[in-house]
Amino acid sequence: MFETLLLNFLFLLFPVVIVLIFFENRPHSYNKKLLILLSTLTMILCITMPIKLKIGFIFDLRYIPFIIVALFGGYKHVFPLYVVLNVYRFYIGGEGTIHSFLFSTLIFILVPLLHKKFIQMDSRHRIVTATMVSFLTMGLYLTILSIIFGKLTKEFWILTFNALSTHVGVMVIIMILIEQVRTNIKNREKYLQSERLNVVGELSASVSHEIRNPLTVTSGFLQLLNQSKTITPDEKRYIELSLLELNRAEKIVSDYLSFAKPQSENMVYSNLEAEVEYTRNLIIPYANMHQVDVQFHFQNSLHTHYDRNQIQQCLINLFKNGIEAMKDTDGGTLFIHISEKKQTIEIRIQDTGIGMTKEEIARLGKPYYSTKEEGTGLGMLMVYSTVNKVKGIIEVESEKGKGTTFLIKIPAS
Ligand code: ADP
Ligand code: MG
Repeated sequence: MFETLLLNFLFLLFPVVIVLIFFENRPHSYNKKLLILLSTLTMILCITMPIKLKIGFIFDLRYIPFIIVALFGGYKHVFPLYVVLNVYRFYIGGEGTIHSFLFSTLIFILVPLLHKKFIQMDSRHRIVTATMVSFLTMGLYLTILSIIFGKLTKEFWILTFNALSTHVGVMVIIMILIEQVRTNIKNREKYLQSERLNVVGELSASVSHEIRNPLTVTSGFLQLLNQSKTITPDEKRYIELSLLELNRAEKIVSDYLSFAKPQSENMVYSNLEAEVEYTRNLIIPYANMHQVDVQFHFQNSLHTHYDRNQIQQCLINLFKNGIEAMKDTDGGTLFIHISEKKQTIEIRIQDTGIGMTKEEIARLGKPYYSTKEEGTGLGMLMVYSTVNKVKGIIEVESEKGKGTTFLIKIPAS
């Protein structure tokens, strides 16, 4: 009996190990279909090699992959498992086929109801929830069994206890492994991102200072030259083009400069109101130009420490991206919504623009990632860097063709 238990455990480990070995380094590339396929395979193996307890009592761990997929994936993803489970069970046939069908249908209907809540929980709650679900499922199964068999001997209770504790114990272990893999992947992403921001920050701080002065001087002299009466129209055009390009260079440098360490003279302890007001007024002409309506709501009394210039630049970058996303869609609305929740300041910036795919969201904030012709791909990098500095986090929700929501949560201090 112990050997089959170990074997079953091995089956359950199988998908976890595959993901760990082949996909841990590229978390965005593993596809759900493969995971579902692996889980289905595990389920079949579990059914094929059930654990035989004494006196002909047979039980297996098929509901562990089933419950896990139902919780993580919802109806859509657990459906194939449901079908395969029942087709396979009918193929085996024998006693209890109908019971198994009814029981799995019940699980199939009930468990995915938790899916939406489940994926929003933190790791620990997910483990607890999955454990509870597995306890209740197995408990229900055993209750039904006891009613059918009707022989509630002491032996039956011991076996029930064994089955229940095995099921729950294995579920806890598998869930802990899954959550640990997920945490590892997330931590590495976070680490890479902050490493990237550090490198860019240090580099830009030194380079942009050096470049700004020559740019200003050149631009000044070109402007003087432009006023000269002896130059030909052609030469004037060249000068104007040069000035335009210099402006562009300056813009890039000022985007860069904001990566630099917070400057003490800009540091404030405030509730963001002044900065949000200022940037909103700054952005409104730009919004009007693109037929974008700006809706604004401010309700926050929480204070925190931040670099005023950086926060302004960060907000401008986000507003601009929102407006630019609605440029080609015949107008739209940019919602700017600042509120407080417990001890965090929440900044929600929502547009009704072109939206992004999951892959595009994953690339946000990487240097030079831009899909625009004139884009620099530095705006979001600056946003991530700034929010990182005030210990905030950024959540992005987006749907292609529908729009994007940036939710920034900054802890009050
Ligand atoms: P840039 O705006 O210069 O392209 P950013 O770093 O500001 O650079 O943005 C990087 C890319 O992220 C953009 O080119 C765009 O593809 C995408 N992006 C950012 N914000 C949004 C948004 N609100 N809606 C759709 N795409 C966005
Ligand atoms: Mg931008």
